Amino acid sequence: MSQQYELDVLNPATEEVIATVPGAAEQDIDTAVRRAARAQERWAALAPGERARLLRRFAVAVDEHREELAQSEVREAGHTVGNARWEAGNVRDLLDYAAGGVERLTGRQIPVPGGLDVTLLEPLGVVGVIAPWNFPMPIAAWGTAPALAAGNAVILKPAETTPLTALRLAELALEAGLPEGLFQVLPGRGDIAGEALVRHPGVAKIVFTGSTRTGKRIMALCADQVKRVTLELGGKSPNLVFADADIEAAAAAAPMSFLDNSGQDCCARTRILVQRPVYDRFLELLAPAIESVTVGDPADERTDMGPLISGAQLERVRSYVDADAPGIRGKAPEGPGFWFPPTVLTGVDPHARVAVEEVFGPVAAVIPFEDEADAIRLANGTDYGLSGSIWTRDVGRALRVSQAVKAGNLSVNSHSSVRYWTPFGGYKQSGIGRELGPDALTAFTETKNVFISTEGPAQ
Ligand code: NAD
Repeated sequence: MSQQYELDVLNPATEEVIATVPGAAEQDIDTAVRRAARAQERWAALAPGERARLLRRFAVAVDEHREELAQSEVREAGHTVGNARWEAGNVRDLLDYAAGGVERLTGRQIPVPGGLDVTLLEPLGVVGVIAPWNFPMPIAAWGTAPALAAGNAVILKPAETTPLTALRLAELALEAGLPEGLFQVLPGRGDIAGEALVRHPGVAKIVFTGSTRTGKRIMALCADQVKRVTLELGGKSPNLVFADADIEAAAAAAPMSFLDNSGQDCCARTRILVQRPVYDRFLELLAPAIESVTVGDPADERTDMGPLISGAQLERVRSYVDADAPGIRGKAPEGPGFWFPPTVLTGVDPHARVAVEEVFGPVAAVIPFEDEADAIRLANGTDYGLSGSIWTRDVGRALRVSQAVKAGNLSVNSHSSVRYWTPFGGYKQSGIGRELGPDALTAFTETKNVFISTEGPAQ
């Protein structure tokens, strides 16, 4: 069967086709892996300082094209322009941070009798990064920057709907002086290009971010070759508001904790769990905050929330919300574009689909709880464990609940969870492995132990 095909890239705010790019076939992936393997050998042989210098030049090139990359992200992903600028800057910062690790990627010397024992951290070889459409630039860079810094080559397969910024990043890498073939971007369908990358025996590790369903399939495919895999999957993160919290601050922060990026965020705090005595007061404060969120043209600086990525995603989000379900609803544009209004549902059964599944849209459920034990039980009551927030003025409670909630990234009196210099990843079905932070490079190495005898050859 011929695998020639193209991908249409739509502006999700207008539904207009803004670009058409060729999709990679299995043969293209094979050619790319062979090129990458050759480039990787030369790259790993370079002096560490030289690799660091080239990565810093790549960071500078991204910085110089920050506005162009941001505008491209607004058009292909519907991100608000403020967010898109931050995202391009995040790619720059990730490259800079990873560059700082190249000369610090040290092994260990371990005391042993009769000789010297050292561990070496060696690059894996060719790494495949499979990125989603919700944060096309940062998530591509989460895998790419540390993998390159640790001496690997990278093949990045962006999501079908958002290949443009990734392709531009590959051009900037070449302009900055990274060797040909070291960082290649191959847009394509998941079932064709994605699977070919996962199955290719020349690819040593897969870094995947996306749905739990696809993550399970990728993990099963990787098992066949015992291929290394990092998975960053879905979330259904709780936002726990205790009665002793600053309720005004908690209500003011709640809307953008699940509406940012139109809710297409694996860390979105979509289960707002509120202690019974302050439940009514919290909703009173939340309603005007939701209604005042500006939804519209993502290129307009005043916009808080843009469209969903696609018609398919819009249908998926709609399937979770009955038109007559009680709750709070904001406003969204009519006409072309994949629009869904900010939506908070009340009176939701904690076991309902909308309360336990990842909606990936601007929809949250507010659910009351009785006491700390009840809050923890509800917070841990899904298959996910990515993020969560705890609002309380009681330091002891903040620590107790932080220890009890099974999630990889928690914030107290805040919704912040992702920084490039702190580790990120999920418990349970939210993923395997960690990205970012001080150990990011180590995840792209094998540890080799070498013992050198000091006894001398036997006489
Ligand atoms: P997906 O997980 O299927 O796609 C993510 C990436 O994986 C894309 O690049 C895709 O091409 C690739 N892919 C798909 N099937 C593959 C396969 N068999 N082998 C290798 N690569 C493959 O996500 P989707 O279909 O675009 O979105 C569906 C749902 O997933 C969303 O509604 C949302 O709930 C969830 N999602 C979550 C995240 C997240 O960060 N947690 C990101 C994207 C989507």
